[in-house]
Amino acid sequence: MDFRDAPEEAAFRARLRGWLTETAGEFPTAGDEYWARQGEWHRALYAAGFFGLSWPREFGGHELPPVYDVILDEELALAGAPPRPSLGYLVHGLGRHGSAELQRRFLPGMIDGTQRWCQGFSEPEAGSDLASLRTTATRDADRYVVRGHKIWTSYSDVADWCLLLARTDPNVPRHKGISAFVISMHQPGVEQRPLKMINGVTREFGQVLFDEATVPAENMVGAPGDGWKLAMTVVGHEREPSTLGYAARYGKLVRQLAARVDGPPPTELAWAAVQTEMLRLHVRRRLSEQLDGVTHGPDGSLDKLLMTWVDQSVGHAALAVGGPDDPELFATYLYSRAQSVMGGTSQIQKNIIAARILGLGV
Ligand SMILES: Cc1cc2nc3c(=O)[nH]c(=O)nc-3n(C[C@H](O)[C@H](O)[C@H](O)COP(=O)(O)OP(=O)(O)OC[C@H]3O[C@@H](n4cnc5c(N)ncnc54)[C@H](O)[C@@H]3O)c2cc1C
Repeated sequence: MDFRDAPEEAAFRARLRGWLTETAGEFPTAGDEYWARQGEWHRALYAAGFFGLSWPREFGGHELPPVYDVILDEELALAGAPPRPSLGYLVHGLGRHGSAELQRRFLPGMIDGTQRWCQGFSEPEAGSDLASLRTTATRDADRYVVRGHKIWTSYSDVADWCLLLARTDPNVPRHKGISAFVISMHQPGVEQRPLKMINGVTREFGQVLFDEATVPAENMVGAPGDGWKLAMTVVGHEREPSTLGYAARYGKLVRQLAARVDGPPPTELAWAAVQTEMLRLHVRRRLSEQLDGVTHGPDGSLDKLLMTWVDQSVGHAALAVGGPDDPELFATYLYSRAQSVMGGTSQIQKNIIAARILGLGV
């Protein structure tokens, strides 16, 4: 496959580069300042025509091939701009399992950034073992009443809506008793508590307590008991290559680290350079498969595992070059630790690969 830009891709890249030259510098790329202005960045990207590139036109996307997302990621990294807000997994979850009415109501605002979202899956006792979740949604006339406790909920401090998993039937096998809802975060009975991360960020993360919060029955995504199917779609997309578009960002960071080194580079940096290039080629291969119409199932776990290795190799390189006294590089190292946990831990990816790709009896 020829990865050079086709003429229309080159034109898109040039237009994007011009826009970024004027705009990128206005937006912070890290820390609480980044999170505080992430929504504004999302809306600016969208308004300029550079967000939702591969999503359906009907909901405000551009319906372009996924290679445009890669061009976007490359140019954002090159310009030192903030990353593309990642919400493809929610768009795909609602797009695949939501009714036409739910899609029409919610996808446009999600894509253009006027409505912010969070994902309420994990609980204090239900992370890897998500099917053991204990939050309940009990039918009461034309609504459900929600009680429970979600944790590690990214963007919950700014979210207008939450894609929530809750148990609606305790009397069936546990995977089958879970349903999914679009629930408003702005109501009595929803309390958001911030969590401070090890890198000092306080804005990204929270826990959410539901104490008799309500959600209209029509906001259920799919049928009662369909929550597990939706969850598998969502986590599958969290792990796939278009969401792994950080390959370009890693490459840039490795080059920046190399420029700071006098003399022979530390081994960690050399290893990060090799791994980053490996991920870049891997993402390209996956994209070319996508363009050929190949869809991925459990292979997403391989992508996620590879990306975690690269992210953490780059984190180690940042630490080796900057040491703990360089706050920015140290924060890069600290955040890389989260990569083997978010979206499903590395151990869980290995279990999936063992059972579903290698056919081992796990
Ligand atoms: C930055 C970040 C953002 C996140 N954002 C969200 C979000 O927006 N919404 C949301 O719902 N969740 C979110 N999460 C939560 C994330 O999905 C969970 O942390 C993750 O699934 C692991 O669950 P846990 O933390 O409960 O760990 P546990 O499941 O308690 O795991 C603890 C350890 O045991 C290991 N382990 C557990 N079970 C097995 C097994 N069967 N085989 C082998 N090893 C096992 C794990 O690999 C891990 O090392 C986020 C997490 C992070 C770090």
